[in-house]
Amino acid sequence: MNIILLGPPGAGKGTQARVLVDERDMIQLSTGDMLREARSSGTEMGKVVAEVMDKGGLVTDEIVIGLIREKLEGEKKGGFIFDGFPRTLAQADALADLLADMGEALDAVVELQVEEEALVARIVGRSTCGNCGEVYHDVTKPIPADGKCANCGGTEFKRRADDNEESLKTRLMEYYKKTSPLIGYYYAKDDLRRVDGLAEMSEVKRQIDEILSN
Ligand code: AMP
Repeated sequence: MNIILLGPPGAGKGTQARVLVDERDMIQLSTGDMLREARSSGTEMGKVVAEVMDKGGLVTDEIVIGLIREKLEGEKKGGFIFDGFPRTLAQADALADLLADMGEALDAVVELQVEEEALVARIVGRSTCGNCGEVYHDVTKPIPADGKCANCGGTEFKRRADDNEESLKTRLMEYYKKTSPLIGYYYAKDDLRRVDGLAEMSEVKRQIDEILSN
C-alpha cells in the first residue's frame, strides 16, 4: 500500500506517519527529513537547501524528486508513506510516473484538515527527541519533568530552525500557493480522502485506519 499524507505544516503528517511505520511496517519517505539530513552532512546540495529551508521556501522540484527517486529504488516493505511530498503539481506528476515505472500505484491521498489558526500554535513550541523523533509541545505535550523522552529515555531534544513565526508565515504561504492545488488534483483523480486533523491523535489514527482498510 502506498499513500500520501497531505496537509499544511503542523497538520500532524509526521506523527501519523510514525504510527503507520510502527503498526504496518510501512516506509516513511519524508522529504523534509531527507533535506535536513543532507544539510547536516554538509554536502554542496545541503548548503544550497539550508538557506531555502530556514526561510521557509520550497526546495527545487529537481532536488526533491531526485531524493525520492533514490529511496524508491530501495526496499518496499509494507509500502510507502509520502510525508511532505509531493508539494507541487510537478512533483505530483513525477511521483505518478515513478510509481507507474515500478508497476506500483497510489492507494490513497489522506488530507489532514486543520484550521489555519491552530497551525501556528502547534508549530511554535514544538520539539522532538533527538534519539527517536517523538514529538513534544511546550503547552500540549511537554517534555517529561525528569528530562527524559517518554518513548526511549533519550535526553536530547531538538527544535527545528524553521519552527518560528517568521519562517512559518512563508511555509504557510508556500503551502496555500503551491501545495493546496494538489487537493483538487487528487480529488479529480478520485484519490483524495479527508480526515479531521484537529481531532485527538488517536481519533485521527482511527480515521486513517478506516480509510486504509477500505
Ligand atoms: P517538512 O519537514 O516537511 O516541514 O519540510 C521542511 C522544509 O523542507 C520545507 O519548508 C521546505 O523548505 C523543504 N521541503 C520538504 N519537502 C519538500 C518538497 N517536497 N518540496 C520542496 N521543498 C520541500
